[in-house]
Amino acid sequence: MTIKIGVIGTGAIGREHIDRIENILSGGEVKAVTDVNQESAYKAVKDYNLDATVYPDDVALVGDPNIDAVFVTSWGPAHEQSVLLAIEAGKYVFCEKPLATSAEGCMRIVDAEQKQGKRLVQVGFMRRYDEGYVQLKEALDNNEIGDPLMIHCSHRNPGVDENYKTNMAVTETLIHEIDALHWLIDDNYESVRVDFPRKTKHSHAELQDPQVFTLKTQGGVLIHAEVFVNCKYGYDIQCEVMGEEGIAKLPEVASVVVRKESKLSSNILNDWKIRFMDAYNKELQNFLDSVEKYGEPQGPTSWDGYIAAVTADACLQAQETGEEVDIKLQDTPDFYKKQVAVRN
Ligand code: NAP
Repeated sequence: MTIKIGVIGTGAIGREHIDRIENILSGGEVKAVTDVNQESAYKAVKDYNLDATVYPDDVALVGDPNIDAVFVTSWGPAHEQSVLLAIEAGKYVFCEKPLATSAEGCMRIVDAEQKQGKRLVQVGFMRRYDEGYVQLKEALDNNEIGDPLMIHCSHRNPGVDENYKTNMAVTETLIHEIDALHWLIDDNYESVRVDFPRKTKHSHAELQDPQVFTLKTQGGVLIHAEVFVNCKYGYDIQCEVMGEEGIAKLPEVASVVVRKESKLSSNILNDWKIRFMDAYNKELQNFLDSVEKYGEPQGPTSWDGYIAAVTADACLQAQETGEEVDIKLQDTPDFYKKQVAVRN
């Protein structure tokens, strides 16, 4: 069966996902698109040679009886409405982060999905599909280093533009660590504090850079997560878990090692899209395959979207107050306890 997809939001990531579905992955076909910028929707149809209807808005697109699944790739504040519409229509949803811009919005989605009685939603936390993270998770699940005690991780970008402000270190950058780390160690967050080291001269007036987030988990694991978005040297994701019996570290991206002129060197990537290209492909293929095979997506859930929203809110509050802020999550509903994120 080919899953017929409607895409809401034909900006940067919407176009990339359309390209994936049409040219790289199997089992899906884009049959409808919409965007507040209608020209952009028509352009996507033309550029990707789609046999698809352009709808004026998400209400009309979701109402198309031929659409099986909706991809929500518009800007964050529009996600909640589109996801709720799709759930109410009983359609599958792949939603880019954030699931909603508030914890309350995520809860509305969680409630609506439970009312439908089966999983419909997958959130676009693609790190869970990155080969390095999959290996790291396997090492932890296989108890290779014993119980985790501490995590040191870094999210470094070579540079960002003037629109990137201090809070975006949480909403655009750390958000991926927030999802990946609780999944890695199967634990929930308890509190967060933020420290601001000396600001790099490469930042601008409205961006404190770098920042270090100290997260504590309910199980007592201490996490140091550095966000440094003007690091200059490359796009670099690091993650090291210290356990009772040893250390497990995210593998470096494969790159040839050159010995030349008294130097030993290898390249570091510059672009997040290239770093996680394979992960994006795998997450969407997994979504399509799971819907086809099991009638439910199996990747990150609406509840994971809720956890990310609550944690991000606490991180923002910690940035503003300089205090350690509690992360108060509601109890996980049984509906989501039975969900196991399939990684490949
Ligand atoms: P973008 O290039 O600005 O694209 C967003 C598109 O949605 C634009 O065409 C925008 O139109 C449109 N839009 C805004 N409001 C809409 C609405 N109410 N209904 C329909 N379309 C609407 O942004 P992007 O980089 O593609 O990001 C889109 C989403 O994906 C964001 O939530 C972002 O956080 C997420 N994302 C995730 C990852 C990841 O690693 N998982 C990576 C990149 C982006 P206008 O241009 O006219 O406003």
